[in-house]
Amino acid sequence: MPEKIAKEIKLAKYAGFCYGVKRAVETVKKLKAENPDKNVFVLGELIHNNHVIHALEKLGIKTLTEIPEHGDGICVIRSHGESPQVIEKIKQAGFEPVDLTCPDVKKVQQKAVELAKDGYFVVIVGKSEHPEVIAIRANAELWSENVVVAASVEQLKEYEAQIKSHKRVGVVVQTTQRLLTLNSIVEYLTSIAKEIHIANTICQSTAMRQKEARELANESDLVIVVGSKKSANTTHLAEILKDITKTIHIENADELDLYKELIETARKISITAGASTPQDIIEKVINKLKLL
Ligand code: SF4
Repeated sequence: MPEKIAKEIKLAKYAGFCYGVKRAVETVKKLKAENPDKNVFVLGELIHNNHVIHALEKLGIKTLTEIPEHGDGICVIRSHGESPQVIEKIKQAGFEPVDLTCPDVKKVQQKAVELAKDGYFVVIVGKSEHPEVIAIRANAELWSENVVVAASVEQLKEYEAQIKSHKRVGVVVQTTQRLLTLNSIVEYLTSIAKEIHIANTICQSTAMRQKEARELANESDLVIVVGSKKSANTTHLAEILKDITKTIHIENADELDLYKELIETARKISITAGASTPQDIIEKVINKLKLL
């Protein structure tokens, strides 16, 4: 049995809901409270957290997995944003759309559109299946055919000939991407493109969260990242920290049992959490950790 040692537990300042998520959750609850007789739907999960989705369902706020042919009531566009085509479809079905796209995501959409309109070959850094990326791409593609998505240099290499044939390349980045990914893509583009315009659109909340977590990891034996495995920003956070120190990614306090041995032998433990992790889940993790 490894020796159990006294623990020092530190919680990151930037752990849990970011302002975009907080705004979305609070506004949707307010919408339902102000419109008790109307249906209130959210297209897709408002945030990647089952606990929050169930709590919203209890208030009568339902999640739509697709847009029905005919709808009635309010349909909320979540913080990731949607394509203009999807917003049109929501209206056509008869819903009243309420746009809760995070202002930081809106900025990426606007920047991508601006670059597309100005004739740049547009590179969106992110995963092509991420809802935020789908919406950014759809907005830019209204203005240009020259829009591509890449999550790595390897993926971008597929478009090398096109990039070389264009006069100017414009780069935007999905708000929760790793800076390291953006930097490697920029380095590659610098070596092949004639002219590049880089818009670092990683949101401030993500940048601060990642910076603080890195600093904490440097002084910790173990970092615990709390949040859904479906959440891109939480997964990125865990990936970054794994390069620095021992890191575990859990969704809730129960999962701590799986790492008992690791926890018992760590002296300095730091806790951080993704942008969609509610405060009470973080608190439960801290309370359980104190008992282990
Ligand atoms: S992570 Fe950033 S961009 Fe995404 S919702 Fe939060 S504040 Fe907005």
